[in-house]
Amino acid sequence: MRLELREVSRAFPGVAAVDRLSLVVGAGRLGCLLGPSGSGKTTVLRLIAGFEQPDAGEVYAGGKLLSGAGRWVPPERRRIGMVFQDFALFPHLDAAANVAFGLRDADAGTRRRRAAELLELVGLAAEAKRMPHELSGGQQQRVALARALAPRPHLVLLDEPFSNLDADVRMELAQQLRAALVAEGATVLLVTHDQREAFAISDEIGVMRAGRLEQWDAPWALYHSPATRFVADFVGEGTFIQGTVLGPGRVSTELGVIEGQLTSEQATGTLVDLLLRPDDVIHDDASVLRAEVVERVFRGAEFRYQLRLPSGAVVLSFVPSHHDHAIGERIGIRLDTQHLVGFSRT
Ligand code: ADP
Ligand code: MG
Repeated sequence: MRLELREVSRAFPGVAAVDRLSLVVGAGRLGCLLGPSGSGKTTVLRLIAGFEQPDAGEVYAGGKLLSGAGRWVPPERRRIGMVFQDFALFPHLDAAANVAFGLRDADAGTRRRRAAELLELVGLAAEAKRMPHELSGGQQQRVALARALAPRPHLVLLDEPFSNLDADVRMELAQQLRAALVAEGATVLLVTHDQREAFAISDEIGVMRAGRLEQWDAPWALYHSPATRFVADFVGEGTFIQGTVLGPGRVSTELGVIEGQLTSEQATGTLVDLLLRPDDVIHDDASVLRAEVVERVFRGAEFRYQLRLPSGAVVLSFVPSHHDHAIGERIGIRLDTQHLVGFSRT
């Protein structure tokens, strides 16, 4: 079911928690909100679920107006499944009973079948009879998810559903979650602060800052053509070097003339800060361009080197880890840029 927010605002005393925010998540798609703490992500979910009323703007689901323009559908009639950041299972009910809880109106057989089906979907068929305290944190989160999906919600809202899990477990769980949601045909809006997770499972990602949506785009576009400096900084890794626009797709820098498609064209002569991602900077012994290693982080398959250019500017580079260079060493680099992201210097 298609979700749409139109110019939705919600203020609390002294803070515009959500400020004229518009977005669309297509039916059956998975959207994600990323942003620093306090940027309004949870408030957006609460506005959609109907736990908050917008001061202005409208919320639609499946083309139906839920909030705004004088209309108000109460939360229990929205058919939205929500898993909160601080979800809790019923401690005195086993996993299957927790999942079946949301199906109070169905008969016993239906409840049992649906609970079994969902526990299977989230990979917990064997744990159906376990009590919450007998389950790991990740298993409890999967039960909470199964419980939210049980009544077949059209829309599922997830607020940092994996926040208290280890990095390796969360990625696996995120993938499972995505598969489960696709199987159910649900439309999903997820909040996370883990970018890798967001990139791995989202169709579209929005970056929020102080109640506003800075960009709503496919993960690839967000990474390669960030619309604002904030998005460029917030998403992925990278640094800026100074340059001067020479013409369409050509920028002069201390690393030479860099060519590529500028994501936003700037007039010739404009001074820009040019974004360089670690994957734009390639280590190459044969290159005449040299940079000094000032920091190195071993990440298994690769090093992430921090390299100082003659001007003092610093760039990052991912280098296969058999290229083991010491701090202070000067190594050859070349650039491999296709998309140039430059923000005019003000
Ligand atoms: P996020 O989920 O991105 O961390 P929130 O949506 O929780 O952000 O909060 C956005 C802003 O609104 C914050 O400044 C927060 O303090 C404020 N806020 C959220 N809910 C309330 C509330 N019920 N009363 C007052 N201020 C609130
Ligand atoms: Mg929050």
